Amino acid sequence: MAWHNELSDRLTALRSANQYRRRLAMDGPVGAQVRVGDERLLSFCSNDYLGLANHPRVTTAFQRAASTYGVGAGASHLITGHTRVHGALEEELADFVGAPRALLFSTGYMANLAVVGALLDRHDLVIEDRLNHASLIDAGLLSRARCRRYPHCDDAAVARRLATQRSGHSLVVTDGVFSMDGDVAPIGPLAARCRHHDAGLLVDDAHGFGVLGAAGAGTLAHAGEPIAWPVMMMGTLGKALGTFGAFVAADAVVIDTLIQRARTYIYTTAPPPAIAQATRAALEVLRDEPWRCTKVLQLANRFRAGARRLDLRVADSSTPIQPVLVGSSRAALALSAALRERGLLVPAIRPPTVPAGSARLRVTLSAAHEPEHVDRLLEALGTACAAVRPALGCGA
Ligand SMILES: *Cc1c(COP(=O)(O)O)cnc(C)c1O
Repeated sequence: MAWHNELSDRLTALRSANQYRRRLAMDGPVGAQVRVGDERLLSFCSNDYLGLANHPRVTTAFQRAASTYGVGAGASHLITGHTRVHGALEEELADFVGAPRALLFSTGYMANLAVVGALLDRHDLVIEDRLNHASLIDAGLLSRARCRRYPHCDDAAVARRLATQRSGHSLVVTDGVFSMDGDVAPIGPLAARCRHHDAGLLVDDAHGFGVLGAAGAGTLAHAGEPIAWPVMMMGTLGKALGTFGAFVAADAVVIDTLIQRARTYIYTTAPPPAIAQATRAALEVLRDEPWRCTKVLQLANRFRAGARRLDLRVADSSTPIQPVLVGSSRAALALSAALRERGLLVPAIRPPTVPAGSARLRVTLSAAHEPEHVDRLLEALGTACAAVRPALGCGA
Protein backbone atom coordinates (compact mmCIF):
# COMPACT_ATOMS: atom_id res chain seq x y z
CA MET A 1 0.00 0.00 0.00
CA ALA A 2 2.96 2.36 0.50
CA TRP A 3 3.13 3.19 -3.20
CA HIS A 4 -0.59 3.89 -3.43
CA ASN A 5 -0.43 6.10 -0.32
CA GLU A 6 2.37 8.04 -1.90
CA LEU A 7 0.22 8.71 -4.99
CA SER A 8 -2.63 9.86 -2.81
CA ASP A 9 -0.33 12.16 -0.77
CA ARG A 10 0.90 13.75 -3.96
CA LEU A 11 -2.66 14.56 -5.01
CA THR A 12 -3.27 16.16 -1.61
CA ALA A 13 -0.12 18.24 -2.04
CA LEU A 14 -1.35 19.47 -5.44
CA ARG A 15 -4.65 20.53 -3.89
CA SER A 16 -2.98 22.51 -1.12
CA ALA A 17 -0.62 24.19 -3.62
CA ASN A 18 -3.62 25.32 -5.74
CA GLN A 19 -2.24 23.20 -8.57
CA TYR A 20 -4.93 20.54 -8.66
CA ARG A 21 -6.56 20.45 -12.11
CA ARG A 22 -10.23 19.84 -12.81
CA ARG A 23 -12.00 19.23 -16.08
CA LEU A 24 -15.14 21.03 -17.21
CA ALA A 25 -17.72 18.92 -19.03
CA MET A 26 -18.91 20.99 -21.99
CA ASP A 27 -22.35 20.35 -23.46
CA GLY A 28 -22.10 21.63 -27.01
CA PRO A 29 -19.81 22.85 -29.76
CA VAL A 30 -16.87 25.22 -29.39
CA GLY A 31 -17.89 28.84 -30.01
CA ALA A 32 -18.04 32.32 -28.53
CA GLN A 33 -20.88 31.09 -26.31
CA VAL A 34 -20.63 27.67 -24.69
CA ARG A 35 -22.87 25.57 -22.50
CA VAL A 36 -21.73 23.81 -19.32
CA GLY A 37 -24.75 22.10 -17.76
CA ASP A 38 -27.30 24.87 -17.18
CA GLU A 39 -24.75 27.64 -17.51
CA ARG A 40 -24.33 29.64 -20.72
CA LEU A 41 -20.93 31.24 -20.74
CA LEU A 42 -19.02 33.61 -22.97
CA SER A 43 -15.82 31.67 -23.62
CA PHE A 44 -12.29 32.98 -24.07
CA CYS A 45 -10.62 29.58 -23.71
CA SER A 46 -10.42 27.80 -27.01
CA ASN A 47 -7.69 27.73 -29.64
CA ASP A 48 -10.37 27.83 -32.35
CA TYR A 49 -8.89 31.16 -33.46
CA LEU A 50 -10.82 31.42 -36.73
CA GLY A 51 -14.15 30.02 -35.57
CA LEU A 52 -13.89 27.00 -37.89
CA ALA A 53 -14.46 24.13 -35.42
CA ASN A 54 -18.21 24.37 -35.93
CA HIS A 55 -18.32 25.95 -39.41
CA PRO A 56 -21.07 24.38 -41.57
CA ARG A 57 -18.75 23.75 -44.51
CA VAL A 58 -16.32 21.93 -42.23
CA THR A 59 -18.91 19.82 -40.40
CA THR A 60 -20.66 18.92 -43.67
CA ALA A 61 -17.37 17.80 -45.25
CA PHE A 62 -16.73 15.68 -42.17
CA GLN A 63 -20.17 14.02 -42.31
CA ARG A 64 -20.01 13.32 -46.04
CA ALA A 65 -16.54 11.84 -45.81
CA ALA A 66 -17.62 9.63 -42.90
CA SER A 67 -20.40 8.27 -45.14
CA THR A 68 -17.85 7.49 -47.86
CA TYR A 69 -14.85 6.31 -45.84
CA GLY A 70 -16.36 5.20 -42.52
CA VAL A 71 -14.94 6.40 -39.24
CA GLY A 72 -11.61 4.74 -38.54
CA ALA A 73 -8.60 4.52 -40.85
CA GLY A 74 -8.12 0.93 -39.71
CA ALA A 75 -4.31 0.82 -39.83
CA SER A 76 -1.18 2.92 -39.78
CA HIS A 77 -0.19 5.03 -42.82
CA LEU A 78 2.45 2.50 -43.87
CA ILE A 79 0.03 -0.44 -43.85
CA THR A 80 -3.38 0.52 -45.31
CA GLY A 81 -4.42 3.59 -43.26
CA HIS A 82 -3.25 6.12 -45.86
CA THR A 83 -6.03 7.28 -48.23
CA ARG A 84 -6.19 9.60 -51.23
CA VAL A 85 -7.81 12.16 -48.94
CA HIS A 86 -4.74 12.20 -46.66
CA GLY A 87 -2.49 12.56 -49.72
CA ALA A 88 -4.56 15.42 -51.15
CA LEU A 89 -4.51 17.25 -47.80
CA GLU A 90 -0.73 16.87 -47.56
CA GLU A 91 -0.32 18.47 -50.99
CA GLU A 92 -2.71 21.30 -50.14
CA LEU A 93 -0.97 22.00 -46.83
CA ALA A 94 2.48 22.06 -48.47
CA ASP A 95 1.14 24.46 -51.08
CA PHE A 96 -0.54 26.64 -48.45
CA VAL A 97 2.57 27.15 -46.32
CA GLY A 98 4.93 27.25 -49.31
CA ALA A 99 6.91 24.09 -48.54
CA PRO A 100 8.11 21.32 -50.88
CA ARG A 101 6.33 18.60 -48.87
CA ALA A 102 4.06 18.06 -45.87
CA LEU A 103 3.36 14.96 -43.79
CA LEU A 104 0.28 14.41 -41.65
CA PHE A 105 0.42 13.27 -38.02
CA SER A 106 -2.30 12.30 -35.57
CA THR A 107 -1.33 15.06 -33.12
CA GLY A 108 1.10 17.94 -32.82
CA TYR A 109 2.65 16.28 -29.81
CA MET A 110 3.52 13.27 -31.93
CA ALA A 111 4.75 15.40 -34.83
CA ASN A 112 7.25 17.14 -32.52
CA LEU A 113 8.46 13.80 -31.14
CA ALA A 114 8.82 12.61 -34.73
CA VAL A 115 11.08 15.38 -36.02
CA VAL A 116 13.42 15.56 -33.06
CA GLY A 117 13.54 11.76 -32.66
CA ALA A 118 14.09 10.99 -36.35
CA LEU A 119 16.81 13.60 -36.88
CA LEU A 120 18.86 13.28 -33.68
CA ASP A 121 20.55 10.58 -31.63
CA ARG A 122 22.64 10.60 -28.47
CA HIS A 123 25.67 12.19 -30.14
CA ASP A 124 23.63 15.28 -31.04
CA LEU A 125 22.46 18.45 -29.36
CA VAL A 126 18.95 19.91 -29.09
CA ILE A 127 18.69 23.58 -28.12
CA GLU A 128 15.36 24.79 -26.74
CA ASP A 129 13.78 28.09 -25.78
CA ARG A 130 13.10 28.13 -22.03
CA LEU A 131 9.38 28.69 -22.67
CA ASN A 132 8.93 25.98 -25.30
CA HIS A 133 5.81 23.83 -25.24
CA ALA A 134 6.00 20.63 -23.17
CA SER A 135 5.86 18.46 -26.30
CA LEU A 136 9.08 20.04 -27.61
CA ILE A 137 10.81 19.52 -24.27
CA ASP A 138 9.66 15.88 -24.20
CA ALA A 139 10.79 15.44 -27.81
CA GLY A 140 14.28 16.51 -26.78
CA LEU A 141 14.36 14.18 -23.77
CA LEU A 142 13.06 11.17 -25.73
CA SER A 143 15.56 11.69 -28.55
CA ARG A 144 18.40 11.00 -26.07
CA ALA A 145 20.31 13.94 -27.55
CA ARG A 146 21.92 16.38 -25.11
CA CYS A 147 19.37 19.08 -24.22
CA ARG A 148 20.23 22.71 -23.55
CA ARG A 149 17.80 25.54 -22.87
CA TYR A 150 18.32 29.18 -23.73
CA PRO A 151 16.79 32.38 -22.30
CA HIS A 152 13.50 33.22 -23.97
CA CYS A 153 13.94 34.42 -27.58
CA ASP A 154 17.69 35.06 -27.10
CA ASP A 155 19.24 34.21 -30.47
CA ALA A 156 22.72 35.31 -29.34
CA ALA A 157 22.55 32.67 -26.57
CA VAL A 158 21.58 30.14 -29.25
CA ALA A 159 24.68 31.05 -31.25
CA ARG A 160 26.88 30.56 -28.16
CA ARG A 161 25.40 27.12 -27.55
CA LEU A 162 25.78 26.18 -31.22
CA ALA A 163 29.43 27.21 -31.12
CA THR A 164 30.15 24.72 -28.29
CA GLN A 165 28.99 21.70 -30.30
CA ARG A 166 32.15 20.16 -31.82
CA SER A 167 30.81 16.87 -33.17
CA GLY A 168 27.34 15.60 -34.00
CA HIS A 169 24.41 17.65 -35.24
CA SER A 170 22.48 20.44 -33.57
CA LEU A 171 18.79 21.22 -33.79
CA VAL A 172 17.26 24.45 -32.50
CA VAL A 173 13.59 24.14 -31.61
CA THR A 174 11.18 26.94 -30.76
CA ASP A 175 7.51 27.75 -30.58
CA GLY A 176 6.61 30.16 -33.43
CA VAL A 177 4.00 31.94 -31.29
CA PHE A 178 4.57 31.06 -27.61
CA SER A 179 1.53 29.23 -26.34
CA MET A 180 1.23 30.87 -22.92
CA ASP A 181 2.63 34.34 -23.73
CA GLY A 182 1.48 35.02 -27.28
CA ASP A 183 4.77 36.58 -28.35
CA VAL A 184 6.57 35.60 -31.57
CA ALA A 185 10.01 33.94 -31.82
CA PRO A 186 12.82 35.87 -33.58
CA ILE A 187 12.60 33.64 -36.64
CA GLY A 188 14.91 35.52 -39.01
CA PRO A 189 17.84 35.79 -36.55
CA LEU A 190 17.39 32.16 -35.41
CA ALA A 191 17.38 30.89 -39.01
CA ALA A 192 20.51 32.92 -39.79
CA ARG A 193 22.31 31.49 -36.72
CA CYS A 194 21.29 27.96 -37.71
CA ARG A 195 22.48 28.39 -41.30
CA HIS A 196 25.79 29.79 -40.11
CA HIS A 197 26.39 26.79 -37.82
CA ASP A 198 24.93 24.13 -40.12
CA ALA A 199 22.21 23.40 -37.55
CA GLY A 200 18.53 22.56 -38.10
CA LEU A 201 15.65 24.81 -37.01
CA LEU A 202 12.25 23.41 -36.09
CA VAL A 203 9.46 25.95 -35.59
CA ASP A 204 6.37 24.67 -33.76
CA ASP A 205 3.68 26.87 -35.24
CA ALA A 206 0.69 25.49 -33.36
CA HIS A 207 -0.50 29.05 -32.64
CA GLY A 208 0.75 30.91 -35.72
CA PHE A 209 -0.48 28.64 -38.51
CA GLY A 210 -3.83 29.93 -39.80
CA VAL A 211 -3.40 33.25 -37.99
CA LEU A 212 -0.15 35.04 -38.90
CA GLY A 213 1.39 35.70 -42.31
CA ALA A 214 -0.31 36.29 -45.63
CA ALA A 215 -3.63 34.36 -45.63
CA GLY A 216 -2.60 32.61 -42.40
CA ALA A 217 0.39 30.71 -43.79
CA GLY A 218 2.06 31.02 -40.38
CA THR A 219 4.93 32.54 -38.44
CA LEU A 220 7.60 31.58 -40.99
CA ALA A 221 5.68 33.27 -43.81
CA HIS A 222 5.13 36.26 -41.50
CA ALA A 223 8.92 36.47 -41.01
CA GLY A 224 9.58 35.99 -44.74
CA GLU A 225 11.52 32.81 -44.00
CA PRO A 226 11.11 30.05 -46.60
CA ILE A 227 10.57 26.45 -45.53
CA ALA A 228 13.71 24.89 -46.96
CA TRP A 229 16.58 23.04 -45.26
CA PRO A 230 17.57 23.75 -42.51
CA VAL A 231 14.16 25.24 -41.63
CA MET A 232 11.23 22.95 -40.78
CA MET A 233 7.74 23.75 -39.58
CA MET A 234 5.24 21.85 -37.45
CA GLY A 235 1.64 23.05 -37.74
CA THR A 236 -1.38 21.79 -35.81
CA LEU A 237 -4.87 21.34 -37.22
CA GLY A 238 -6.79 21.28 -33.93
CA LYS A 239 -6.31 25.00 -33.29
CA ALA A 240 -6.89 27.66 -35.99
CA LEU A 241 -8.14 25.06 -38.48
CA GLY A 242 -10.72 23.79 -36.02
CA THR A 243 -10.28 20.07 -36.76
CA PHE A 244 -7.65 17.65 -35.41
CA GLY A 245 -4.17 16.43 -36.14
CA ALA A 246 -0.96 18.07 -37.30
CA PHE A 247 1.62 18.18 -40.07
CA VAL A 248 5.29 18.72 -40.61
CA ALA A 249 6.30 20.87 -43.60
CA ALA A 250 9.85 20.53 -44.87
CA ASP A 251 11.93 19.54 -47.86
CA ALA A 252 11.56 16.09 -49.45
CA VAL A 253 14.59 14.52 -47.71
CA VAL A 254 13.32 15.44 -44.25
CA ILE A 255 9.80 14.23 -45.02
CA ASP A 256 11.12 10.95 -46.41
CA THR A 257 13.29 10.53 -43.31
CA LEU A 258 10.19 10.97 -41.13
CA ILE A 259 8.22 8.39 -43.11
CA GLN A 260 11.05 5.87 -42.83
CA ARG A 261 12.16 6.55 -39.25
CA ALA A 262 9.70 8.46 -37.06
CA ARG A 263 8.26 6.10 -34.47
CA THR A 264 5.18 8.29 -33.83
CA TYR A 265 4.43 8.07 -37.56
CA ILE A 266 5.08 4.37 -38.08
CA TYR A 267 3.63 2.82 -34.94
CA THR A 268 0.23 4.49 -34.77
CA THR A 269 -3.13 4.40 -36.55
CA ALA A 270 -3.58 6.99 -39.31
CA PRO A 271 -6.02 9.81 -38.45
CA PRO A 272 -9.56 9.23 -39.79
CA PRO A 273 -9.92 10.20 -43.49
CA ALA A 274 -13.05 12.19 -42.62
CA ILE A 275 -10.90 14.40 -40.36
CA ALA A 276 -8.55 14.97 -43.28
CA GLN A 277 -11.50 15.87 -45.52
CA ALA A 278 -12.87 18.28 -42.89
CA THR A 279 -9.42 19.90 -42.73
CA ARG A 280 -9.41 20.32 -46.52
CA ALA A 281 -12.74 22.14 -46.18
CA ALA A 282 -11.31 24.33 -43.39
CA LEU A 283 -8.37 25.29 -45.62
CA GLU A 284 -10.83 26.26 -48.36
CA VAL A 285 -12.80 28.42 -45.93
CA LEU A 286 -9.56 30.05 -44.87
CA ARG A 287 -8.85 30.89 -48.54
CA ASP A 288 -12.39 32.13 -49.23
CA GLU A 289 -12.80 34.15 -46.02
CA PRO A 290 -9.53 35.96 -45.33
CA TRP A 291 -11.43 38.39 -43.07
CA ARG A 292 -11.22 35.76 -40.32
CA CYS A 293 -7.48 36.33 -39.78
CA THR A 294 -7.89 40.10 -39.83
CA LYS A 295 -10.83 40.03 -37.45
CA VAL A 296 -9.20 37.93 -34.75
CA LEU A 297 -6.10 40.15 -34.77
CA GLN A 298 -8.26 43.29 -34.52
CA LEU A 299 -10.12 41.80 -31.56
CA ALA A 300 -6.78 41.00 -29.90
CA ASN A 301 -5.72 44.64 -30.32
CA ARG A 302 -9.02 45.86 -28.93
CA PHE A 303 -8.57 43.64 -25.89
CA ARG A 304 -4.97 44.67 -25.25
CA ALA A 305 -5.72 48.38 -25.55
CA GLY A 306 -8.68 48.03 -23.17
CA ALA A 307 -6.73 45.94 -20.65
CA ARG A 308 -3.94 48.55 -20.60
CA ARG A 309 -6.50 51.26 -19.84
CA LEU A 310 -7.59 49.11 -16.86
CA ASP A 311 -3.95 48.91 -15.70
CA LEU A 312 -3.87 45.14 -16.11
CA ARG A 313 -0.52 43.46 -16.65
CA VAL A 314 -0.87 42.30 -20.23
CA ALA A 315 1.93 40.65 -22.19
CA ASP A 316 3.61 42.10 -25.24
CA SER A 317 1.48 40.07 -27.63
CA SER A 318 -0.31 41.07 -30.81
CA THR A 319 -1.57 37.53 -31.45
CA PRO A 320 -4.92 36.02 -30.32
CA ILE A 321 -3.20 34.78 -27.13
CA GLN A 322 -3.55 37.62 -24.60
CA PRO A 323 -2.35 36.60 -21.13
CA VAL A 324 -3.18 38.74 -18.11
CA LEU A 325 -0.35 38.17 -15.63
CA VAL A 326 -1.50 37.66 -12.07
CA GLY A 327 1.35 36.05 -10.10
CA SER A 328 0.09 33.52 -7.58
CA SER A 329 -1.95 30.46 -8.49
CA ARG A 330 -4.43 31.35 -5.78
CA ALA A 331 -5.11 34.80 -7.22
CA ALA A 332 -5.39 33.43 -10.77
CA LEU A 333 -7.96 30.86 -9.61
CA ALA A 334 -9.89 33.52 -7.67
CA LEU A 335 -10.03 35.81 -10.72
CA SER A 336 -11.12 32.99 -13.00
CA ALA A 337 -13.88 32.06 -10.51
CA ALA A 338 -15.02 35.71 -10.22
CA LEU A 339 -15.30 35.91 -14.02
CA ARG A 340 -17.26 32.66 -14.13
CA GLU A 341 -19.79 34.16 -11.70
CA ARG A 342 -20.22 36.96 -14.22
CA GLY A 343 -20.87 34.49 -17.06
CA LEU A 344 -17.38 34.42 -18.55
CA LEU A 345 -15.09 31.46 -19.04
CA VAL A 346 -11.37 32.33 -18.87
CA PRO A 347 -8.86 29.71 -17.74
CA ALA A 348 -6.30 30.23 -14.97
CA ILE A 349 -2.93 28.89 -16.14
CA ARG A 350 -0.65 27.85 -13.30
CA PRO A 351 2.75 26.24 -12.79
CA PRO A 352 4.11 23.90 -13.99
CA THR A 353 2.54 24.96 -17.32
CA VAL A 354 4.10 28.41 -16.75
CA PRO A 355 7.11 29.33 -14.56
CA ALA A 356 6.55 29.61 -10.78
CA GLY A 357 5.09 32.96 -9.75
CA SER A 358 3.75 33.73 -13.21
CA ALA A 359 0.23 32.30 -12.97
CA ARG A 360 -2.07 34.09 -15.36
CA LEU A 361 -5.43 34.27 -17.04
CA ARG A 362 -4.99 33.10 -20.60
CA VAL A 363 -7.47 35.01 -22.73
CA THR A 364 -7.74 33.69 -26.26
CA LEU A 365 -9.72 35.46 -28.94
CA SER A 366 -11.46 34.03 -31.97
CA ALA A 367 -13.00 35.32 -35.18
CA ALA A 368 -16.20 33.88 -33.66
CA HIS A 369 -16.15 36.73 -31.10
CA GLU A 370 -17.63 40.19 -31.69
CA PRO A 371 -16.25 43.50 -30.39
CA GLU A 372 -19.11 43.59 -27.83
CA HIS A 373 -17.85 40.28 -26.40
CA VAL A 374 -14.41 41.79 -25.85
CA ASP A 375 -15.97 44.82 -24.17
CA ARG A 376 -18.00 42.59 -21.85
CA LEU A 377 -14.81 40.74 -20.90
CA LEU A 378 -12.97 43.99 -20.18
CA GLU A 379 -15.79 45.30 -18.03
CA ALA A 380 -15.96 42.04 -16.04
CA LEU A 381 -12.17 41.96 -15.65
CA GLY A 382 -12.24 45.49 -14.30
CA THR A 383 -14.75 44.66 -11.58
CA ALA A 384 -13.34 41.18 -10.82
CA CYS A 385 -9.82 42.57 -10.38
CA ALA A 386 -11.04 45.36 -8.14
CA ALA A 387 -12.80 42.74 -5.98
CA VAL A 388 -9.89 40.27 -5.86
CA ARG A 389 -6.93 42.64 -5.71
CA PRO A 390 -7.18 43.80 -2.07
CA ALA A 391 -7.86 40.29 -0.76
CA LEU A 392 -4.99 38.61 -2.59
CA GLY A 393 -2.56 41.37 -3.47
CA CYS A 394 -2.38 40.03 -6.97
CA GLY A 395 -0.47 41.74 -9.73
CA ALA A 396 -3.51 42.02 -11.94
C1 LIG B 1 -1.23 22.37 -28.77
C2 LIG B 1 0.23 22.40 -29.00
C3 LIG B 1 0.92 21.27 -29.42
C4 LIG B 1 0.27 19.93 -29.52
O1 LIG B 1 -0.61 19.84 -30.58
P1 LIG B 1 -1.78 18.73 -30.51
O2 LIG B 1 -2.18 18.54 -31.90
O3 LIG B 1 -2.83 19.31 -29.64
O4 LIG B 1 -1.14 17.51 -29.90
C5 LIG B 1 2.25 21.41 -29.72
N1 LIG B 1 2.89 22.58 -29.58
C6 LIG B 1 2.26 23.69 -29.14
C7 LIG B 1 3.02 24.97 -29.01
C8 LIG B 1 0.91 23.63 -28.82
O5 LIG B 1 0.30 24.71 -28.34
